[in-house]
Amino acid sequence: MTGNKEQAALPQPAAQQVGYAVIGLGKLTLEELLPAFAVGRASRLAAVVSGNLTEAREAALAYGLSADDAYSYDDFEKLGERDDVHAVYIVLPNSLHREYTERAAKIGKHVLCEKPLATSVEDAEAMVKACKDAGVLLMTAYRCQYTPHHWAAREAVQSGRLGQVKLLHSVNVQIEPNEGQWRLKRKLAGGGSLPDVGLYCVNTVRFLLGEEPCEVSGTVHSTPGDERFTEVEESVTWQMRFPSGVVAQCACSYGAATARTIDVFGTGGRLAIDPAFDYQNLRLTVQTGQEVTEVRVPPEDQFRLETDHFSRCIQEGRAPYTPGEEGLQDQKIMEAIYRSAREGGRPVTLERFEGRDVFRGPAPERS
Ligand code: NAD
Repeated sequence: MTGNKEQAALPQPAAQQVGYAVIGLGKLTLEELLPAFAVGRASRLAAVVSGNLTEAREAALAYGLSADDAYSYDDFEKLGERDDVHAVYIVLPNSLHREYTERAAKIGKHVLCEKPLATSVEDAEAMVKACKDAGVLLMTAYRCQYTPHHWAAREAVQSGRLGQVKLLHSVNVQIEPNEGQWRLKRKLAGGGSLPDVGLYCVNTVRFLLGEEPCEVSGTVHSTPGDERFTEVEESVTWQMRFPSGVVAQCACSYGAATARTIDVFGTGGRLAIDPAFDYQNLRLTVQTGQEVTEVRVPPEDQFRLETDHFSRCIQEGRAPYTPGEEGLQDQKIMEAIYRSAREGGRPVTLERFEGRDVFRGPAPERS
């Protein structure tokens, strides 16, 4: 593995690419991540880890690996003997992120971890520390921060094209079926719609502004009698205030038909991304005066962009754009929103940070 930069669209030779072991073979892995690795430029799939070895072997064979590249959770530590596995990608229920991050750090593997980074501030802090102590990189898998449409929106916000930004509004709602899955169990998910889908609103608002909120307030609501919401909440509405005076109003739910939007309002215009958080077909429009322009960006696989970014960070020994600290900060904000809701919606003050992008690494490459 070297730090050679590949030509624009050409993948690096396989021997130079960063090899990943993907942990967890659920929906996201099978439908999005394994196909994204197949078109990776700096990244390649090297192993899969699952509770079901038969399924793991099937997935390994389907993606050009051998049956020996499939591991059970109990055999995870055997990855430590594999020089061609440089990193793990954790795609498990949220409460397992800490355990597998710590186990990976112990065997010297870099960690790309799905969002939310953890189910508590305490766990997220332990994960950041474990990776730091072991000298491995930790990246929170915030695909939206590697997405061209989101970068185009950030540039419109930060260049002054909208004048002075005053308000943001973001919604992420979907209907969560009652399939006995982990998302409705507090112990595994850590919460309901907020850490699962509301997190996109928290994170994208912060990304677009480059600022950290200094105060949040929120309310939580679950439909009485709906058995899906005995352990976790259905809906959350919240407000985030920023030191510059910008205010963001957000909402998430497990009880409404899919909608994923973000709107930014400034003194000179507005922008909208709708849909904002889907894997494909995002749509960004900017309005200044009477003129509405759709900003067209060539489609890219968000998961490939995100994974290739982490691979280049590993190859070049630099901090990822969305390191563990970026996920930890969202964890702190979500805990403050829950606290506000428990205390009748009273505003909760957050630690104040000066400067821009305080938790982010150097800006990612765009290909
Ligand atoms: P999933 O339910 O489809 O898959 C979870 C996997 O974990 C399965 O292979 C399951 O067998 C395994 N597992 C191990 N221990 C388990 C346990 N105790 N209970 C239940 N399953 C267990 O989930 P998913 O949708 O693939 O989500 C996995 C992670 O990825 C979550 O952290 C989620 O928030 C995240 N995610 C991120 C995105 C994104 O766009 N970045 C999208 C979907 C999911």
